Amino acid sequence: MKKYNFNAGPCVLPKPAIESAIEAIRDFDNTGIGILEISHRTPGWERIMKETADLWRELLHIPDNYKVLFLGGGASTQFFAVPANLMKKKAAYLKTGTWANKAIKEAKFYGDVEIVASSEDKNYSYIPKGYTIPEDADYFHITSNNTIFGTEMHEDIDSPVPLVADMSSDIMSRPVDISKYGIIYGGAQKNVGPAGVAFVIVREDLLGQLDRPLQSMVDYRSHISDTEKNRSMFNTPPVFSIFVMHETLKWLKELGGVEVMHRMNKEKAALLYDEIDRNTLFVGTAAKEDRSIMNVCFVMSDEHKDKESAFLKFATERGMIGIKGHRSVGGFRASIYNACPREAVEALVKCMQDFEKQV
Ligand SMILES: *Cc1c(COP(=O)(O)O)cnc(C)c1O
Repeated sequence: MKKYNFNAGPCVLPKPAIESAIEAIRDFDNTGIGILEISHRTPGWERIMKETADLWRELLHIPDNYKVLFLGGGASTQFFAVPANLMKKKAAYLKTGTWANKAIKEAKFYGDVEIVASSEDKNYSYIPKGYTIPEDADYFHITSNNTIFGTEMHEDIDSPVPLVADMSSDIMSRPVDISKYGIIYGGAQKNVGPAGVAFVIVREDLLGQLDRPLQSMVDYRSHISDTEKNRSMFNTPPVFSIFVMHETLKWLKELGGVEVMHRMNKEKAALLYDEIDRNTLFVGTAAKEDRSIMNVCFVMSDEHKDKESAFLKFATERGMIGIKGHRSVGGFRASIYNACPREAVEALVKCMQDFEKQV
């Protein structure tokens, strides 16, 4: 039976990226040795590093005063690397869910954290609006897409202080005005590759303003100095993960880039949300205007609550993988990232309709 992967992360990757990864494990760049075994100082690899950074710049129109880094440790390492590099005294955070809370916890090691607004009162089912960002904060941190709660900020907001965004789960899903941000970071394993590498896009002039020492690995400037030589190799980079990211971005470019992807993502999300709104068995959990086009969260409606495990079983038998909701929301979550084909969303919609017919 055909399987459809709706996992939240790691998640589905484009087929061509998987095929090139398999080939590269056998023989990388006609060197006669595989990508898992080559030195990261071989010219073929340095070319891949440069091309990957160039793909990022091209696809997101990243201005020259920003650097693009590929680092180990996942987005979770950036939760403390960001305050380590930017916080002098106080930072402002938008509290929109589990990942935002983890970022807040780490920031507190470096100074005062002001929670500007929170959606905790309604189990993070919406994005707070109408708040004021304090002008004396060193930066303002947002989570642009809340992977667990299925809410997303659809616009690039204005901020009087450097804007920092965890874009782990919506990077490359829509065009972004990079110039509105100080730092954008995330783990690759949702939209741009496999686990093992994080991306950091940083406006260079924000760095080097602290009067405390910083460990070399945490200091973005250590990684940037090597990027100048077209590499991001202060230490051994996660070679294989970066290679698969390179192939994933090539696939995205061939498809027409981020603008085309955004249109396709909106269409896929609309298919699924339309069915959730039509089908009386299901209810969406996120406020309509804040619905994520990446993670679609829904539960059984009140009068059908008892059918939750029956639907999960029904869907699993039809090849749907990874649609069980996160425990903090319950119900179901379909993650429909860039590489999730429209066909998968259609299959899930059909499954919801078939289930409706038999209850
Ligand atoms: C998955 C995720 C993370 C955690 O990423 P790791 O690479 O596992 O550390 C952080 N933030 C968001 C928004 C996520 O979706």
